[in-house]
Amino acid sequence: MDPSRPTFGLVPQGTDVLIYLVFAPFAVAFLAGLYLRLRASGLARLVAAGPGGLGGGLRRLLVFGLMQRRVAGRPRGWPHIGIFYGFAALLAGTTVVAIDWDLLRPLGFRLLAGARYLWFEALLDALGLVFVAGLLGALAWRLVRWRRAGPDQRRMQWQFLLLVLGLLYLGITGFVLEGLRLALHPVPWGGWSFAGFRVAQALQSLQAPGLPGHGPALYVVLWWTHAVVAFTLIAALPWSAFLHSLAGPLNILVHPGRPKLALDAPFDLREVEASGNFDVKAGAAALADLGAAQRFALLACTNCGRCDEVCPALASGTALSPRRLVQGLRASLLAGDVKTDLLACGALPAAALWGCTTCAACVEACPVLIRPVDYIVPFRRELVTRQQLDKRQIEFLGNLGRSLNPYGLPATQRARLAAELASPQEVP
Ligand code: SF4
Ligand code: SF4
Repeated sequence: MDPSRPTFGLVPQGTDVLIYLVFAPFAVAFLAGLYLRLRASGLARLVAAGPGGLGGGLRRLLVFGLMQRRVAGRPRGWPHIGIFYGFAALLAGTTVVAIDWDLLRPLGFRLLAGARYLWFEALLDALGLVFVAGLLGALAWRLVRWRRAGPDQRRMQWQFLLLVLGLLYLGITGFVLEGLRLALHPVPWGGWSFAGFRVAQALQSLQAPGLPGHGPALYVVLWWTHAVVAFTLIAALPWSAFLHSLAGPLNILVHPGRPKLALDAPFDLREVEASGNFDVKAGAAALADLGAAQRFALLACTNCGRCDEVCPALASGTALSPRRLVQGLRASLLAGDVKTDLLACGALPAAALWGCTTCAACVEACPVLIRPVDYIVPFRRELVTRQQLDKRQIEFLGNLGRSLNPYGLPATQRARLAAELASPQEVP
């Protein structure tokens, strides 16, 4: 007998049709959530408008998405790498199985047969183990972080914990199902599924009581719970922290691609002068005043706190936390609240906004290429437009405007000031 994929081999007849009926409501929940989340973003326009258009977006996707550059460089990044590659491989494997069974088999062709099938099984077992190892690492890390998480992080921590547990269930039951199948119906090529084969051997050596009698029923129960947990995770994706798995790569694709220290200019003065229309808006007071790409980027935030870890404003005790700021804006966006004046209602306190030094360390740190500083500067500009400044800030900006330096020193003293700045030993 030629080795081939025994899809639906141990489940009752008709399951291959029933599974699509069961999946339908989960698919509706997934698509509805996705539509609601992406509705305002105009994704195709954003991709085409990015620097380098689609080409630039795809290059960033390769480096920061597929190669996970900012995650791989961190000591605690390996669990995410394991989950990412393991999940991607298992998802691709399941898709190949569905195509093989539902599309190619009725045409009389099997992709998963012979040597192709054997290598497919071995590869998927290897990447399945990588997936489970990554999830165990992530679970341990989640439990450690749990104690350190502030009250505003708890909700997302819960979601990530449930997500990791759900994926772990899928990974482990995947191997148990494979082991059960090989224990109940041994085949000469079973060793190619090396991890499932060990489970089968363990079950046989244990001489699990009732395995021959109750094994098929146990297989069916496990098979269905495995499918329902997978469908639940798919349906929950747009509604939970799992959204980052989709919004993160999309944000990398539509990222503006500016150098990290280049701040977003509210308008081009030459264009304004050329058009003669001086009715321009310099700042932002509500989410609706931000660009579509900026609003979309909020969806990708995982509350990971890497921006907080490097923020000098937070470290020096100001009221600014870039993570909290981005998460607050994200919550408003998810609630559909894009018109509220965030400055007037106190959601963005001036003290927090003025804490930012625009150093862009947060921009460098964010694994999904969010630019927290781009949410701070436009709101600060609006504070200036409204003249909501304290005495020191008015003096500082007045000096800059009049003398082109923050101290208000006359131009004749610029050379002395520059010399002092160039000689650190003279600085008191
Ligand atoms: S740019 Fe602002 S928010 Fe970002 S790290 Fe620097 S001080 Fe913090
Ligand atoms: S903005 Fe980026 S670095 Fe900061 S919490 Fe969100 S995902 Fe993490």
